Amino acid sequence: MPVDTTQLKMDPSKPTVLLVTDSAAIHSGFAQVVRNIFRRIWSNRRWNIVQHGWWHQKPIEKTPWSIISTQRDTTNPSVVDMRDKYGAVSFSEVVEAVKPEVVWCMGDPWMVSVVLNNPRRHTYRAIFYCPVDGAPTNYEPWAIIKEADIVVPYLPWGKKVLERWQPKARIVDPIPHGVDTELYKPCSTFDRDATRKNLGVGPQDVLMTSVSRNQTRKNLPALIELSYYLRTGDYQVCSVCGHAYRNPYDYHMGRPSGQKAMCTSPLCWYDKLSGPSMLPGTPHPNFYYYIHTPINDLEDSSWKLLNVLDTFGLGVKVDDKIRYPGFLWNESLKIVHGINEQELALLYASSDVFALPSTGEGFGLPLLEAMSCGVPVLTSNVSSHPDFTGEAGHVVPCGHYVCETLSGYYRGYMDLDLGLDALLDLVDNPETRREHGRRAREVALEYDWNKIATRWVSLIDEQVKLAAPGRRWQKTVSV
Ligand SMILES: [Zn+2]
Repeated sequence: MPVDTTQLKMDPSKPTVLLVTDSAAIHSGFAQVVRNIFRRIWSNRRWNIVQHGWWHQKPIEKTPWSIISTQRDTTNPSVVDMRDKYGAVSFSEVVEAVKPEVVWCMGDPWMVSVVLNNPRRHTYRAIFYCPVDGAPTNYEPWAIIKEADIVVPYLPWGKKVLERWQPKARIVDPIPHGVDTELYKPCSTFDRDATRKNLGVGPQDVLMTSVSRNQTRKNLPALIELSYYLRTGDYQVCSVCGHAYRNPYDYHMGRPSGQKAMCTSPLCWYDKLSGPSMLPGTPHPNFYYYIHTPINDLEDSSWKLLNVLDTFGLGVKVDDKIRYPGFLWNESLKIVHGINEQELALLYASSDVFALPSTGEGFGLPLLEAMSCGVPVLTSNVSSHPDFTGEAGHVVPCGHYVCETLSGYYRGYMDLDLGLDALLDLVDNPETRREHGRRAREVALEYDWNKIATRWVSLIDEQVKLAAPGRRWQKTVSV
């Protein structure tokens, strides 16, 4: 299928930047990033911008640049031809038609390998905006990244990992993702109360929210488990150091084990002869956890979340249906479509705590969006999280690391006793929430997309200049 360049809005006197990643017209993490960066750059009009878009379909979002779709299935044009899902078949044709000086690509290394290793590779400079959500990155698909002219990590953590495990790659300073601080902002009490009322949560209740797909590395069972301890008060608090400890739970029998937790802090100054004196925890019946994940993800994706709720005995039979008091989700939430960004911003801004206990993230954009809404966060001290969350909430240390199948990454699992401590601090102290929330907004303002986009302009300009003139495509418009 030859590419029809007459439809592309291109000025032959200008250099061309070809974007290769998820189509900017759809809803996905990569789509959101490419849309936000290049929408702001577009107004500069320095270069022609054209995209070779993965998963392109009937546009949900408008983009000012032309998007050439990867191939469709010949028998059913509404679905993507899986052989060409990342442009393995059509990318070379697109390069020949568009003649880019620079190709800017974003995705996992195996997604962008056709860009970095291509017969026409000598005709363009390749910038790879590189997500790193785990380490070590020493296994085979990563080797391709040394073919990029520059590799731009998202955050300092990603840079450190790549320098350690792919030392031959040309790694430059990281450029973080950003956030639209005009859209993601604190909301009025009126809007907050209305949003919470829709969820069935009152103004005085405490609402924790997570926003993510139910993927293994998002570790959502940790949040259900913490919510169990909060709602039931099935924990002990050390009367000397004040730390909370979960009473051991019998996961197989689905009930408390009957044992009571003791203080295990090596720093606690309790009397070593008489032992720590522990106080029973406090039930928090006004604590709610809203799980914002597509409804088909609740059971059919990686973690069996309803199973987890049942394990913790959180189900109650009401009118022949099992309900889970204190746990909320949206029955109509679907993959890809989700809710619009205005609604999402209101959801963040109406929450008291935003939680993302991932075992590894390339960035963790929902954390930044929640921070921009002035909401304190609860996350794990692993991968990218501590690079930008700082004093915007609690970054909880990992209790253990588990080597993941296939990737070989070591995934960090939040220590749940420390997680319980952190969550109690946020839930019990409105003043702490306000202070962390204020800091969160301040930090987020530093990551406004307008500031981030200008960093890309100078970096791409440099690469356009470096595109060797002798090797450049002849800028003739083919008829
Ligand atoms: Zn203690």
